[in-house]
Amino acid sequence: MSSTSFHKVLNSSKHIVALCGAGLSAESGIPTFRGEGGLWRQFSAIELADPNAFKRNPSRVWQFYHYRRELVMKKSRNRAHKALIEFSKKVNSAKPRTQTFSVITQNVDGLLTTSISDDVNGIDNLIEMHGTLFKTRCTACGDIRSNRDSPIVPALQGNEDLSLDADIPLDQLPRCSLCTGLLRPHVVWFKESLDSMVFEKIQIELDRCDLMLVIGTSGTVYPAAGFASYIREKGGIVANFNIEKMGEDAAFEL
Ligand SMILES: [Zn+2]
Repeated sequence: MSSTSFHKVLNSSKHIVALCGAGLSAESGIPTFRGEGGLWRQFSAIELADPNAFKRNPSRVWQFYHYRRELVMKKSRNRAHKALIEFSKKVNSAKPRTQTFSVITQNVDGLLTTSISDDVNGIDNLIEMHGTLFKTRCTACGDIRSNRDSPIVPALQGNEDLSLDADIPLDQLPRCSLCTGLLRPHVVWFKESLDSMVFEKIQIELDRCDLMLVIGTSGTVYPAAGFASYIREKGGIVANFNIEKMGEDAAFEL
């Protein structure tokens, strides 16, 4: 499909959904910690992004997330993030509004949200299906809130790179401002299922979607594969983007 015919499809679609994965943020220098090379110190991400690991050693898991938060805060949006945000703005400011645009991202880096200190706002209708590094959730009362403090607590300062456990006492780890309970990162860990509210939101978007853009994630691997085949089965169009070539000469296949 040529770029011209893609634009025709884009313009004639009513409900557009972009499904984004790690490839979207790779150009910004965000490591995934999944798969090969997914190591932090001697631990694999699977050993750290895990509810049991957090129960056993919350200090170590917080060190890992503190490291990731600090790393991401030094990075910026790339052209692909900016293109998606521009498109979101364009769709939502059109008069009359003839289209909807939502983004479902598997990334936890928060680079598409409005909260980052940047000159442009983020995506209006954004679903962070695996949560974000920049929200916390209370393990006692469940309160969820945004948090971009650097460091998140003083005790973690300088503890992102050490080869030894910091062994931070529980009372010096991030605590809830409402009930003083221990906070955890608001991300979906291995063995955990998606939040049912998030799942419902995704379902609503998929039900009305007539064009899905699959960006920076393999269209053959869960969950993208499942979402994409759902769209195709109901007669929608799925466009896969090769992220390296995004922009004027965007390469995609149907
Ligand atoms: Zn609480």
